Amino acid sequence: MPDQRLEMIDLKSIIRTVPDFPKPGIQYRDITTLLADPAALKAAVEQLAAPYRDTGVTAVAGIDARGFIFGTAVAIELGVGFIPVRKAGKLPFDTLEQDYALEYGTDTLQIHADAASEDDTVLLVDDLIATGGTAEAAISLLKRTGCNLVGAAFLVDLPDLGGADRVRSQDVPVKTLVAFE
Ligand code: AMP
Repeated sequence: MPDQRLEMIDLKSIIRTVPDFPKPGIQYRDITTLLADPAALKAAVEQLAAPYRDTGVTAVAGIDARGFIFGTAVAIELGVGFIPVRKAGKLPFDTLEQDYALEYGTDTLQIHADAASEDDTVLLVDDLIATGGTAEAAISLLKRTGCNLVGAAFLVDLPDLGGADRVRSQDVPVKTLVAFE
């Protein structure tokens, strides 16, 4: 049962905005202020997990590195295990990998090839969706395991960058808690 006092917390006001980080013109949405606030952290995790309580989720996948924080907490909330989607070169066993575009150049995400299977129903979690390139790469990896991807959940949406719509256009339902226009 969700705690109604936690639903009253204004998560957006607890996320700090740092102008011009990591470079001029970027409004960096800094979630460390939310992580430091016990009630806000609990509220964020509960609200991310709530829509998926009766959906048969068998695992939560989180994207390196802030997706590990929220993804693991959501996995514990839902009583399931956690799949790390990692930057290249960190996972020790057989991996699947997917390149994705950055503003300048490319990067690569990996998962363990046995991280999920056709028997799994997986929820993807990350802290923030901007252009959606990172989430799209993670989704591609998860789909290659044969799992059923039930949705993608993000604490923060930057709707002007179109990432959530990009993911939705791939038939992956998206839920977000806070939007910065
Ligand atoms: P994207 O692939 O463009 O959707 O970028 C998503 C990733 O970049 C997320 O994992 C965020 O952690 C990070 N990110 C992108 N833009 C911002 C921003 N304005 N503030 C904080 N993190 C960001």
